[in-house]
Amino acid sequence: MVVQTGIEQFAGSLRGQLIQQGDAEYEEARRVHNAMIDRRPRFIARCADVADVMAAVNFAREEGLLLSIRGGGHSVPGFGTNDGGLVIDLVRMKGIRVDPEKRTVTAQAGCTWGDVNHATEPFGLHTPGGVVSTTGVAGLALGGGIGHLTRPFGLVVDNIVSADVVLADGSCAVASEKENADLYWALRGGGGNFGVVTSFELRLHELKAVYAGPIVWPLDNAGDVLRFYAEFINNAPEQLNGIFAFLVVPPGEPFPEHLHNRNMCAAVLCWTGPLEKGEEAVRALQEFGPPAFHHVGPMPFPVLQSIFDPIAPPGQFNYWKADFVSDLTAPIIEGHVKFGPGTPNIFSGVHIFSTSGAAQRPGKNDTAWSYRDARFSHVIHAEYWEAEEGDSHQQWVRDYYDTLHPHSAGGAYVNFLMDEGQDRVVASYRDNYKRLAEIKGRYDPGNLFRMNQNIKPA
Ligand SMILES: Cc1cc2nc3c(=O)[nH]c(=O)nc-3n(C[C@H](O)[C@H](O)[C@H](O)COP(=O)(O)OP(=O)(O)OC[C@H]3O[C@@H](n4cnc5c(N)ncnc54)[C@H](O)[C@@H]3O)c2cc1C
Repeated sequence: MVVQTGIEQFAGSLRGQLIQQGDAEYEEARRVHNAMIDRRPRFIARCADVADVMAAVNFAREEGLLLSIRGGGHSVPGFGTNDGGLVIDLVRMKGIRVDPEKRTVTAQAGCTWGDVNHATEPFGLHTPGGVVSTTGVAGLALGGGIGHLTRPFGLVVDNIVSADVVLADGSCAVASEKENADLYWALRGGGGNFGVVTSFELRLHELKAVYAGPIVWPLDNAGDVLRFYAEFINNAPEQLNGIFAFLVVPPGEPFPEHLHNRNMCAAVLCWTGPLEKGEEAVRALQEFGPPAFHHVGPMPFPVLQSIFDPIAPPGQFNYWKADFVSDLTAPIIEGHVKFGPGTPNIFSGVHIFSTSGAAQRPGKNDTAWSYRDARFSHVIHAEYWEAEEGDSHQQWVRDYYDTLHPHSAGGAYVNFLMDEGQDRVVASYRDNYKRLAEIKGRYDPGNLFRMNQNIKPA
């Protein structure tokens, strides 16, 4: 039972704002991206600085409150909120500093990928992130981070130079190669299990523009297209990234009208090498089929980074299932060809992310991310506006997943999982789980940070 004076003291200690049930902002503040998550936390602490985060961690621990951490609010299982507990909402912490000499960007944990891209673009520098500009840096970075720059520059975790972290005891620590190396190892894939990261220092890469965009094929020879694509991307130079999808073509630019709302398959390419070599790098794929449409050309990286935004609006119901696969083998391709064409609407589909190239250079025990041997990570996702659509859309996802899963590598990218139980978490970390549990035992023995793909303290 939290007594009123304690609440007042806590609220008074914040530079940010404490929102409680009954406050005008409460209804808006409790919402997260996935409409399926309808929880009512008792307190939402909109922290303004590190001191606020320390106070909020102490308050949650001392009062025995269930604690959620929220960056961009995109967690599909809704870990960024809870019923009856405290949410540390970092949305106000958006400070960013680019160091062009050192080639790093330091971003506070309330930043989205759009904020980071905006800040680094004028310097001709970028860092790997996710493919939707409204996703939070924090949650995505801590789980691994796959996007358009994975093959060229690695996962997001491969680009974390250091992080400032508020620990379960309310103290503050730096995690880097030189300081708290065990924490630094665990943060790079271990999710929000170890503390509240208040800022990230990320490595930047020279990237003045990319040669990028979608190629779209009809479904009649989807199997041949996917087979050709697998061969193509696996053998492509690391400077080329690809994301393959089964989708319903959105009714808008750049797609021609006759393709609008049609079920098709597509690859979204991103070439980061010299622009004049882009055309040659994508040609073989662009000529295969032939495609129904392609729109690949030079563009600023932030333009590519936001092309999926219109089909990922907040407030929809989201239902996802995912796996790593070692490669696009025959049964995996067969499964995609069977279920991909059933994609129910423009918001849903399957995204097959490449996790090869630079992402396969570190060893499987070098960071918490274990699946360095998997070349692809797919997520089958249904998004819809009406709850009544849930049964059929979710069934499509489950049937698709059940067909592919026996041929998968076993685990999934933790940021693509729903709340699917401990076995799935353990399978996703494989032999790194034991070390993660030991580190969790050192930094958070009471499992204060448990609203996540939870690693139980050893
Ligand atoms: C539309 C959409 C697009 C996506 N695209 C991609 C993609 O391209 N690539 C990719 O890799 N993933 C992608 N994802 C998955 C994404 O990585 C996860 O949903 C991730 O959790 C989002 O981070 P967030 O900060 O927005 O979420 P939040 O819901 O705010 O946070 C999720 C969890 O991360 C942890 N966390 C958040 N902030 C902190 C912090 N400061 N310190 C410690 N722990 C913290 C907490 O456990 C929290 O519950 C996408 C998700 C959505 C909904």
